[in-house]
Amino acid sequence: MSKILVIGGGAAGMMAAAAAAEEGHSVVLYEKNEKLGKKLYITGKGRCNVTNACDFESFFENVVSNPKFLYSSYGRWNSWDLMDWLEARGLKLKTERGNRVFPASDKSSDVIRTFQKALERLGVVISLNTEVEGLWVEEDRCRGILIKETGKIPADAVIVATGGLSYPTTGSTGDGYRWAGKAGHTVTGLRPALVPMEAVFGDGTPVSELQGLALKNVAVRIQKGQKDLAGDFGEMMFTHFGVSGPVLLSASSVAARELEKGPLELFIDWKPALRDDQLDARILREFEAAKNKLLKNVAGNLLPVRAVPVVLRLSGVPPERPVHEVTKEERLRLVHTLKEFPMRLTGLRGYSEAVITQGGISVKEVHPATMESKKVKHLFFAGEVLDVDAYTGGFNLQIAWSTGHAAGKAAGKPEELGNSSKPEGRREE
Ligand SMILES: Cc1cc2nc3c(=O)[nH]c(=O)nc-3n(C[C@H](O)[C@H](O)[C@H](O)COP(=O)(O)OP(=O)(O)OC[C@H]3O[C@@H](n4cnc5c(N)ncnc54)[C@H](O)[C@@H]3O)c2cc1C
Repeated sequence: MSKILVIGGGAAGMMAAAAAAEEGHSVVLYEKNEKLGKKLYITGKGRCNVTNACDFESFFENVVSNPKFLYSSYGRWNSWDLMDWLEARGLKLKTERGNRVFPASDKSSDVIRTFQKALERLGVVISLNTEVEGLWVEEDRCRGILIKETGKIPADAVIVATGGLSYPTTGSTGDGYRWAGKAGHTVTGLRPALVPMEAVFGDGTPVSELQGLALKNVAVRIQKGQKDLAGDFGEMMFTHFGVSGPVLLSASSVAARELEKGPLELFIDWKPALRDDQLDARILREFEAAKNKLLKNVAGNLLPVRAVPVVLRLSGVPPERPVHEVTKEERLRLVHTLKEFPMRLTGLRGYSEAVITQGGISVKEVHPATMESKKVKHLFFAGEVLDVDAYTGGFNLQIAWSTGHAAGKAAGKPEELGNSSKPEGRREE
């Protein structure tokens, strides 16, 4: 029996602690908050989208950073393993649109309670209100952890599952990145992702003019120079600072790195179901039905009324013009503006609004099957602290479950720690 210390009582840490205890090891789980799963509690708007029941290929298509690193851990402990594990412990689940899996009760607290009970039953010692100060590393081997009050606590293996930097009030303050850096690991560029973005309209005017306006069934495209970076279809909204909503949160994960270097172009297609010529025909019909009306009044039939002044301004067609006086050239400009409404993205919002942190401990320095460090023996990582992230839909939590499970299963088997010295080129399962 090995002694395993797990740092972080979030999704990855709880899964790792349970998996290690299932192997018969003595496990202590340290959490600096007064309770487990503080971030888990707010996931999925309090409903906790625990995983996604999609096929393997789709799962990896939804992982934005380093999907290949996850082949092994997800292959061994996938969405269905997690669902079976939770249901075997009494948590009923349901699958909604987009294969998103939630507890049937719609309560994230039920997920946390299920883990808590499982950990207690497995004899995991849960040490709440305990902030770990650092790792005890000597001669390239992790010997335990450091805690202010108690000093060094020895262990056979340590699993770092301290999360990222997003929503820091939940306890994710980046401690694991600092410790890993000190232990010789590379921490790749950290940035908020799945995060709202700051923006202005194409003419440089503030977006606050449309603050609170939500759009459904629009297509968005983010462009750098002539290159398309991201595109999506669905819901978005204008905020006092820029843009948010599902399609733009997803797009932010792809655009984040480029946005750090400078502004990007965002184009909104207000009428994705219509080609340019179809939209022109539709506008002509509207104009013919209301010949003597002013453009600003007719445009409300094509767009949310609040958006009319902005769209007309950006198209350069005078709003006070009676529609029968609108020239063909002006009409085509209006079509173009509706199909490619121009905006400029100027920055990302901060960690306090970001669903996840992009970047993290370089996966090149971690064994994908076991999550063990390639630099420091008996040290393991799991969850958001690693340089892996995905789109919304339950994928980020599944990354935490899969990597946590892999770390927990491997951490207590010193003979398997030989994994870390496998000859180069040998394929890890
Ligand atoms: C608002 C919001 C909604 C989300 N909704 C979803 C969703 O529905 N589905 C989904 O898949 N993903 C969702 N996510 C993302 C998901 O929550 C994270 O990917 C996941 O929680 C990462 O798990 P983790 O265990 O790695 O980190 P965390 O859950 O952040 O856990 C890390 C834990 O470590 C503890 N800790 C940190 N440092 C120390 C220390 N020094 N000593 C002791 N303890 C320490 C922290 O207090 C924390 O409890 C959401 C995120 C947010 C912010």
